[in-house]
Amino acid sequence: MWGEAAARSRLVVMLVRTKQELREEVARLTGSIGLVMTMGALHEGHLNLVRRAREECEHVVVSIYVNPLQFGPGEDFDAYPRTLEADLELLGDVDIVFAPSDEEMYGSGPLVRIDPGELAGKFEGKTRPTHFAGVAQVVTKVINLVRPDKAFFGQKDAQQLALVRLLNRELDLGTEIVAVPIARSESGLALSSRNSYLSEEEQERALALHEALLEARAEGAAGASAEQVEENLRQRLSAAPGVQLDYAAVVDPVTFGPAGTAGLAIVAAWVGPTRLIDNMEVTCG
Ligand code: AMP
Repeated sequence: MWGEAAARSRLVVMLVRTKQELREEVARLTGSIGLVMTMGALHEGHLNLVRRAREECEHVVVSIYVNPLQFGPGEDFDAYPRTLEADLELLGDVDIVFAPSDEEMYGSGPLVRIDPGELAGKFEGKTRPTHFAGVAQVVTKVINLVRPDKAFFGQKDAQQLALVRLLNRELDLGTEIVAVPIARSESGLALSSRNSYLSEEEQERALALHEALLEARAEGAAGASAEQVEENLRQRLSAAPGVQLDYAAVVDPVTFGPAGTAGLAIVAAWVGPTRLIDNMEVTCG
């Protein structure tokens, strides 16, 4: 948890805009470093990652960067909420915040790209074909800049988490990836910066995702097979009013291939113009 003494002792967050400054400030830190990467518009989900990093590491570095490479044509890159001032206030007690410009991050590049492989073509990657290559690029760069002992990622973006684990291993990034559980609103909606796009009515409709996942978990616990759970999940969400299903599946949480008994139910759907994702661990019969 946030130590009160620590909160009192550090009144100003060190905000750095360039890679050079980031390297210099990181070099000043003595002791273990935890990294939390975000696109800003921070909410309790992000803050949970920061709290966890604070618990497990002596220093915390947070990046706030809306990475253009992970948005496809026609997606919400321009509309994505950018609230740096409010984000800095929410963060309070961290050592460094890195908020670069696109120019600083990529210069006139990127001229070298990472091919994120097969996992990046499934589910999220089918609908968003360039998304995970963009994620892989920015995650690799920021981990290389900070060289953290641990990097914290949310289970909300389960396929991203699986990809980041793979990147860390295959590209020898040399950090430890820590997964942090999904933070939800009281009604169950998974917190997301994109929830700010939802009208009140859409917020109600979006609850169908969490409710369908809870039912999937209950069915699995009652002995249903992964295939049955998946079929019911899909049917339930296809019938949900105001919800346009993209995919619903029960997968292996590492490969996103067929699930064994320890599966992950994953969903993506549009509620109005807003695309939402959610997931839940399910134990199937
Ligand atoms: P984003 O700013 O959406 O790119 O998210 C930055 C990090 O916060 C990622 O590791 C996300 O998985 C994580 N995150 C976002 N929303 C949540 C949430 N509701 N619960 C847990 N982690 C989250």
